[in-house]
Amino acid sequence: MKIKNPATGEIIAELDEDRTEEVRAKLQSLRQGQRAWAQISVRKRLACIERFGELVRQNSDELAAILTAETGKPIQQSHNEIIGAQNRIDHLKANAEKWLADETLVDTGATHERISYEPLGVIANISAWNFPYNVGYNVFLYALVAGNAVMYKPSEYAALTGKQFEKYLHLAGIPENVFQCVVGDGKLGQTLLEENFDGYWFTGSYLTGRHIATTIAHKLVPLQLELGGKDPLYVTDDVTDVKQAAINAAEGAFYNNGQSCCAVERIYVSEKIYDEFVAAFTAEVKSYTIGNPLKTDTFIGPMTRKQQVNVLDGQVKDALKNGALLKNGGKAIEGKGNFYEPTVLINCSHAMKVMRDESFGPIIGIQKVASDQEAIALMQDTEYGLTASVFSSNEERALQILREMDTGTVYWNCCDRVSPNVPWSGRKNSGLGTTLSSQGIRAFVQPKSYHLRFS
Ligand code: NAD
Repeated sequence: MKIKNPATGEIIAELDEDRTEEVRAKLQSLRQGQRAWAQISVRKRLACIERFGELVRQNSDELAAILTAETGKPIQQSHNEIIGAQNRIDHLKANAEKWLADETLVDTGATHERISYEPLGVIANISAWNFPYNVGYNVFLYALVAGNAVMYKPSEYAALTGKQFEKYLHLAGIPENVFQCVVGDGKLGQTLLEENFDGYWFTGSYLTGRHIATTIAHKLVPLQLELGGKDPLYVTDDVTDVKQAAINAAEGAFYNNGQSCCAVERIYVSEKIYDEFVAAFTAEVKSYTIGNPLKTDTFIGPMTRKQQVNVLDGQVKDALKNGALLKNGGKAIEGKGNFYEPTVLINCSHAMKVMRDESFGPIIGIQKVASDQEAIALMQDTEYGLTASVFSSNEERALQILREMDTGTVYWNCCDRVSPNVPWSGRKNSGLGTTLSSQGIRAFVQPKSYHLRFS
């Protein structure tokens, strides 16, 4: 498999793809390794994960360079991701033993009723490229700590990073027959679906997620899907600082080139502050440094996937045809690499694709609204349900709106944010199941109920 640098179009590495025979052999060895791994205490498993975190920290310069080379993520954002993802490890260290401990529910002396939490077995983790550390850790670290073995299939756009995870997990003491990284594209993902894993954890697009769900349905094993979104942000007329709201909203829309599952994908603004907001938002986007992702001051690098240029072009054309105005950008940047101008469309409506289909790139649509009721109806008018955000100086007003949202996560005066303390989940076409928090680790175990009679 040839790995291309999206900033230059150059081939930077070639990897051998795993084929069906290799997947089968690795799965068999993972089955054996998992049994021994499950016998080790949670504390010892955590110690390996901690060592892994330490190795990642020590090698973060090299790892950030690899991430930037294969995905085009600006180097500062690669560093942010690598260091930021360590909070999953801290969180597991502080809580995993407690969450995985046996629970006694009844103890009358003669009768005991208790639960133990047993690992599922060998997990297939089919992953995405946009935040490989965050979305990878959310699955494979939690699975490993809970006593499972993992076959990790990184995206074909983040395969070098996947191989680094494997290297450092093994160096940290996770046995080779407990974690394996297999390399390939969707065809390899399909092979994993055909083999018998004890659970499937997927991060990626709705269409692939739906295909996975239908393909493996007959296996009756746990399935989790972390899928796409069309996440709305609403700016009410009472925000104290319109300019600051615009700066924060723009960051939520354009960080990682808009290629975040919880990126702000559409913005609604009260008509009373609309012009001021649009002016401040456009000025902020115009100030972004675009270009070589290896430069520390670059904010907008290339898009990871070339084919997404056509999706964005289609959304721009469709929006302009339906009455939108272009305030910035609107086309690919000529030359090497998958660069696209950060694009701001205003006077948008739900007749436009940019307000309905996931963009997953540096483009945003802004729409004027007359009331909270109108904003709520528009925010809810979507097949997705990942996150929703309100910027307002009034907490009660914001909470009233957020309670109406059919999304797994809601934000007040912030956006595009994930924390290991609280569950991460999507509703509707944004997914199934939960990662992070106590629920994210409990997803990797099955309860066994004990009824013990002392007589
Ligand atoms: P994708 O669906 O194209 O690919 C995801 C993974 O699925 C890759 O590893 C790919 O090789 C594999 N795959 C492709 N076809 C397959 C098949 N037939 N069977 C099995 N596996 C197959 O998605 P992507 O482009 O890598 O990721 C972008 C999407 O991921 C966006 O929609 C984004 O919103 C979403 N995402 C969601 C979250 C979340 O937490 N909800 C996080 C990150 C990304």
